[in-house]
Amino acid sequence: MSDEPCFDISQFGAEVRRVLVVAAHPDDLETACGGTVSLLIRQGIEVALLLGTDGDIGTHDLSFTRESLAATRRQETLAAAAQLGLKEVIFLGRHDGELVPDLALRAEIASAYRRLQPDTVFTFDPFWAGQAHPDHTAAGRAAVDAYMPSKMELYHAEQLVDGVKVADVKRFYFFGGSNREGEITIDISSVWDAKVAATRCHVSQFGQKEEALQWLAEWNRETGKCCGIDYAEAFHSMQVW
Ligand SMILES: [Zn+2]
Repeated sequence: MSDEPCFDISQFGAEVRRVLVVAAHPDDLETACGGTVSLLIRQGIEVALLLGTDGDIGTHDLSFTRESLAATRRQETLAAAAQLGLKEVIFLGRHDGELVPDLALRAEIASAYRRLQPDTVFTFDPFWAGQAHPDHTAAGRAAVDAYMPSKMELYHAEQLVDGVKVADVKRFYFFGGSNREGEITIDISSVWDAKVAATRCHVSQFGQKEEALQWLAEWNRETGKCCGIDYAEAFHSMQVW
């Protein structure tokens, strides 16, 4: 049992108005923070998604090509986004398994920070040594790396046209989980069904079999145990200025 209290979603409302989720793969948002995103949207907070890759190696079904899988997964992403009520999805279209936090990725994320003006970014924790997927680390790394230059007028000044201003990101929330303590635990029990429905839009990944999302239920139940709640998502915060 942790001493950490469960963080009430309404506490986000005072300081969080616009959220950008920086993810690596089409189903990352739904599985890592789909419940929290659903709760935020229900509070009137705008949430958009920036997606690094199309998830174009994410199958063992060899009737797919990389191209056809990418196209399928974009459609699934848009279906899930509509289900959740996301404001926008930005597809960067990198290849799955090859996302790197290079200068081009940094600039593309900075452009999204400037155009969408999120005050809050949800992403993978680039500092977590237990992360096994390099695309996840890369997405988190590039999201943090884009923060500082996106505030500066002389960085990619060509992005600052048509009323687009420098960015003003105030805080990051990194996805946590049951295998390590999150400092913020959100009770998602009331939107568990919405999270499952959005996740199930990724048919190529989870099909319609009941047991396909058993791992997700176990993960979110385990995360909730610290607070004695049914289903939870956890986050680590990083304050910037
Ligand atoms: Zn992923």
